Amino acid sequence: MVLKRSLCYDCGMQSQEQIQYPWGSELPYYSYAHYLKTKYGGRVQKVSINAGFTCPNRDGKVAKGGCTFCNNKSFTPSYTRNGETIGEQVDRGISFLAKRYKRTKKFVGYFQAYTNTYAPLSELTALYEEALKHPRLDGIVISTRPDCVSDELLDYLQDLSSRKIVVLELGIESCYNDTLERINRGHDFETTVDAIHRAAGRGFHVGGHLLFGLPGDSREKMLEQAEIISGLPLDSIKFHQLQIVKGTVMAQQYREDASQFNLFSKDEYIDFVIEFMARLRPDICVQRFISEAPLDLRLAPNWGNFRSDVVMKEIEDKMKRQGVRQGMNF
Ligand code: SF4
Repeated sequence: MVLKRSLCYDCGMQSQEQIQYPWGSELPYYSYAHYLKTKYGGRVQKVSINAGFTCPNRDGKVAKGGCTFCNNKSFTPSYTRNGETIGEQVDRGISFLAKRYKRTKKFVGYFQAYTNTYAPLSELTALYEEALKHPRLDGIVISTRPDCVSDELLDYLQDLSSRKIVVLELGIESCYNDTLERINRGHDFETTVDAIHRAAGRGFHVGGHLLFGLPGDSREKMLEQAEIISGLPLDSIKFHQLQIVKGTVMAQQYREDASQFNLFSKDEYIDFVIEFMARLRPDICVQRFISEAPLDLRLAPNWGNFRSDVVMKEIEDKMKRQGVRQGMNF
């Protein structure tokens, strides 16, 4: 049992209550897989959908050029192809993933590439409903920016969540405005906090995404984000190490002056994550610690041909050996 402290970002009030570790004792952290198993009885597999969205940080509405780290090719699976209908993409994705993950209980459509709430509500709901018409999809996961989340959309998702699995994933990336500005994110952290508070408590799952190793963030500054994130009403978090991906503004900056980046080696990252996890609120489940951009797109750091599931296991084993549990220093 640990003490849960909450900080209200509106009034600055702090409160605390006792909470149980929600995932028992087998794992040193609260994994998303455990959460899904408890809630849905087994694996829930995301099937990526490219619905043809763009992004306000690229088309000039907020900015041009996009976030300096962004190359959507680095996180779009090869089975998604432009030119296919949503139903065809889901068919292709399920036939690929069902062979790979035989114990999958459910599939959910993953609106992943670019900003998947960047359109009028009627267009958005038509796209989401088109996916949900697929007989093998039990829900949707929507990845987006915090400045593209209207109250009307949240009302729709709240209603949808009474009949389908609904997950909203918000790109946080950093809790620091100077860092967000430096990576040309196009919104501040206050916007993120506001979106998370408006989305929370409506019956659907609210997740966040953080990037570690962004230029300007020292190790201590990154660790301090565990407390900030823990003060938000998030259900889950994904985080990963900064990888400089070819074709991005960051790749250009790296080629011009690599010294402005302080990229993690694999061992440094494992130790960093363990320290972060010890400070993270124990009822926030963790979707992943690590990401693996395709080798041919990766410029730095050079971790060789690693596999993220193997590194995840290394982190878990090291946490066990060191007696570290998520939230023990929360
Ligand atoms: S990371 Fe997301 S918000 Fe940033 S430019 Fe890429 S698609 Fe847009």
